[in-house]
Amino acid sequence: MMKTQVQTDINTVAETEINPFRVYHFGKINNDGNASMKNLLGGKGANLAEMASIGIPVPPGFTIPTTMCTFYNEQGRVLPTDLKTEVDQAVRLMEEQMGTEFGSEANPLLVSVRSGARVSMPGMMDTVLNLGLTDLAVQGLAAKTNNARMAYDSYRRFIVMYADVVKGLNGEDFEHIIEANKAKAGIEQDTELSVDQLKEICLELKELYAKLSGEAFPQKPQDQLYAAIEAVFDSWNTDRAVLYRKIQNIPSDWGTAVNVQAMAFGNKGETSATGVAFTRNPSTGEKKYFGEYLINAQGEDVVAGVRTPLPISAESAKAKDLQGQSMEELMPETYIELTQVFETLEKHYTDMQDVEFTVEEEKLYILQTRDGKRSGFAQVKIAVDMVKEGLVDEKTALGRIEPASIEQMLSPIFNADDKVKAKDKLMGAGLNAGPGAASGIVALSATKAEWYKKQGFPCVLVRTDTSPSDFGGMMAAEGVLTVRGGATSHAAVVARQFGKPCVCGLTGLVVDEELKTITYKGETIKEGDNISIDGSTGEVFFCKIETSPSEISQAFIDKCIDPNQSEVCRHYQQIMAWADKYRTLQIRTNADTARDLNVALSLGAEGIGLARVEHMFSSDDRLLLLRQVMLAKDEEIKNLALSHIEHFLKEDFTAVFKTLDGRPATVRLLDPPMHEFMPHNDGDKAKTAKALKVSEDDLTASLGDMAEHNPMLGFRGCRLGILKPELTRVQVRAILEAALELNSALVPCKPEIMVPIIMHENELIHQRMLIDKVAEELFAELNARVDYSVGTMIELPRAALQAGEIAKHADFFSFGTNDLTQTTLGISRDDANHFLPTYKNGVSDPMTGTGNFEVYPDDPFQTLDQSGVGQLVQVGVKGGRDTSENLKIGICGEHGGDPASIDFFHRTGLNYVSCSPYRVPVARLSAALSAIRN
Ligand code: ADP
Ligand code: MG
Ligand code: MG
Repeated sequence: MMKTQVQTDINTVAETEINPFRVYHFGKINNDGNASMKNLLGGKGANLAEMASIGIPVPPGFTIPTTMCTFYNEQGRVLPTDLKTEVDQAVRLMEEQMGTEFGSEANPLLVSVRSGARVSMPGMMDTVLNLGLTDLAVQGLAAKTNNARMAYDSYRRFIVMYADVVKGLNGEDFEHIIEANKAKAGIEQDTELSVDQLKEICLELKELYAKLSGEAFPQKPQDQLYAAIEAVFDSWNTDRAVLYRKIQNIPSDWGTAVNVQAMAFGNKGETSATGVAFTRNPSTGEKKYFGEYLINAQGEDVVAGVRTPLPISAESAKAKDLQGQSMEELMPETYIELTQVFETLEKHYTDMQDVEFTVEEEKLYILQTRDGKRSGFAQVKIAVDMVKEGLVDEKTALGRIEPASIEQMLSPIFNADDKVKAKDKLMGAGLNAGPGAASGIVALSATKAEWYKKQGFPCVLVRTDTSPSDFGGMMAAEGVLTVRGGATSHAAVVARQFGKPCVCGLTGLVVDEELKTITYKGETIKEGDNISIDGSTGEVFFCKIETSPSEISQAFIDKCIDPNQSEVCRHYQQIMAWADKYRTLQIRTNADTARDLNVALSLGAEGIGLARVEHMFSSDDRLLLLRQVMLAKDEEIKNLALSHIEHFLKEDFTAVFKTLDGRPATVRLLDPPMHEFMPHNDGDKAKTAKALKVSEDDLTASLGDMAEHNPMLGFRGCRLGILKPELTRVQVRAILEAALELNSALVPCKPEIMVPIIMHENELIHQRMLIDKVAEELFAELNARVDYSVGTMIELPRAALQAGEIAKHADFFSFGTNDLTQTTLGISRDDANHFLPTYKNGVSDPMTGTGNFEVYPDDPFQTLDQSGVGQLVQVGVKGGRDTSENLKIGICGEHGGDPASIDFFHRTGLNYVSCSPYRVPVARLSAALSAIRN
């Protein structure tokens, strides 16, 4: 019964042979897995098997699949006996291959127990190294390797990790013992500790362990192993892992695999080392090996910032004044071997790789490879380069660019002039770990950063180094600055992945957590003071610096730099050209002025999907005219106002149509929230009363008559045009007059007139008759004709449900997903803030009273609610096209610029999406990605 509940990946394993408790071996001799089995084996396990299969030196081991994690967590968190048996057998196989024995006093097998989910979650879950060491085994290891230092160094590391990961004991207390011993011996580096000191440390650590846990440090390797496996499974549900999954939309039932692997020792002395490297620069995308290593070190030392790691390549060492200290110089043969592995891996995976390696007495071992996380700039550069190198085709290259990278490329950079002006406050430069400019106030803790963010203050998180528990704070901050840690440190990896500007390793910066100050080169500022960091150059300024538009904006919108002189611009153009080649959705923009439109066109918009007439009433004079139309009892005043409106609308439309230069334009008739347009303060009221030639009291009375409790569901949209046909009339005249003017100047223009807030086909029939009548009158008057079409917004549930009837009278549809979301969910966007954010973050669980009960995962106004609102869109599309097969259908809500929603619109068969001007490039890429995927 228990067995059937464990699901195994049936794609890769024939159903008949499924043993749900089986483990998957990797290594030179037995190798059960491959890279395609990530869902089952996790990314790490699948790639270890894949590497072993192509002859890359990987220490042998086995993987317990992710399905077991889910099973374990569902079944009360105990390891099933059958699994233990399987693990015991797998360990025996490792013993045979390694010629060692688990728990042996003379020749012990040591292993690492590593987590590894389908997708990498840097630093989110736990790993234990050197497992298998006991009081006796450590002596055996020392004797066998003739390296007591390494043996006891490994033991003290193991005790600390075991205490932390398996027992959940506070790591700091343990680290304190190590620091105290170093201080006593008057040394700074871990590597300087003598054998005796290490032995003493081990003793003290075990004492502390016993004191805190109430039991002696376990001396049976098998028990250690079971407990560590459970701990890795448990680490899937730590708070930070849960938060990370939420942000990354990773389902909680994916689970993590556990990899048990023979240890490679980078801490065996001067010919041993450990390191992390990328096959290309993850920050800039440059095609250069990029990595860091530490001699005589193990595992996390490089990432954890215990010692400052050194560059692997001689070139980077030189650039940092560290000549002679690179791996290339100190371990030339191993370095060459390593770079050969890089080449093999890049060719094999056809992508940039992020590789962990360890050198044990000159012998190279690869411990992990995965597709390297990279900044948005690097995503784009690597994609373009790899196509040029013939490594991947255009579609694959595009598929590796997240829409957010395009946003990153478009985000502001520091103003060059202001940067020069701030040079007195330029304190120095650290590593340019995550490109982009960030300016804000100093936050010294993750909690503080989150608090500042809540208060609306942009901040920069400044830490000695970051750990996974700082994740929330990093997300809240505009940028991150750390004292320690290199370009592969936690801060750098996370920052690049999330497009946060980041400067790492600003050595010499002193963060005083008690005084809440930071000091650099004698200058001190406090938490809350201004700071600016340039993640592209590594520069740090103790002041605020204004930002200016991105290079792309400067080249294509402001046209003040030559795009050919900027690599960023050239890459952007290439990516956009490919995107346009593969996408089938058209991209229009929501723009109401020639200025907005120019921006959108520069960024590749193919027309206007939504021009909002009410946005053309944005000056006091114009507002007054609209108030006159709405409130005047005197026909003359009203008619005069109407003719003024017709006049300026025509001017505005002419400018917009001219800018469009033949591209399509959908103009939506007036749909104002009327209350916003009415006078609110006394001065305004006085002016309005005067213009209406009525007393202020009369005006107040009229306003009272007009007041609505629920304007969003009130007198708006076509309801206005039906009750006040004169409003529709002037708009239609203005639109068509503008079109006629352009046509006479030989610029083609065929306006699409769109009627808002239709719930019943009769509303559209009414407005359509009116529009046609006004048009005919105008054509007769001017003795000229122009082509136009009339369509409607689908933005009320009834309209979506009755789309078939409505389509009989519409030349096109455009889904107004903002209103459709409001009216389908019954949530007013203006009032959602009281509860929607809490819905998203989670409320207390009624059963347990604790934890996070997530009511609604996304913001439906940002990402389309596909199952609800999306269903109405599908119904609307079907209804419309059943009536009119080739009905042109678009969407013009906020969702038109959201990648996930765009994907839905693509699949639903829309013709175009329309988004705000600056979202256009993101929409172009998203549309291409959808076309490639589907
Ligand atoms: P993470 O997913 O957090 O990177 P890993 O499981 O990759 O955790 O391990 C943490 C560190 O320990 C890495 O630097 C890794 O290379 C190192 N490590 C893991 N297993 C071994 C091993 N068998 N021998 C040597 N180092 C190891
Ligand atoms: Mg780790
Ligand atoms: Mg790793």
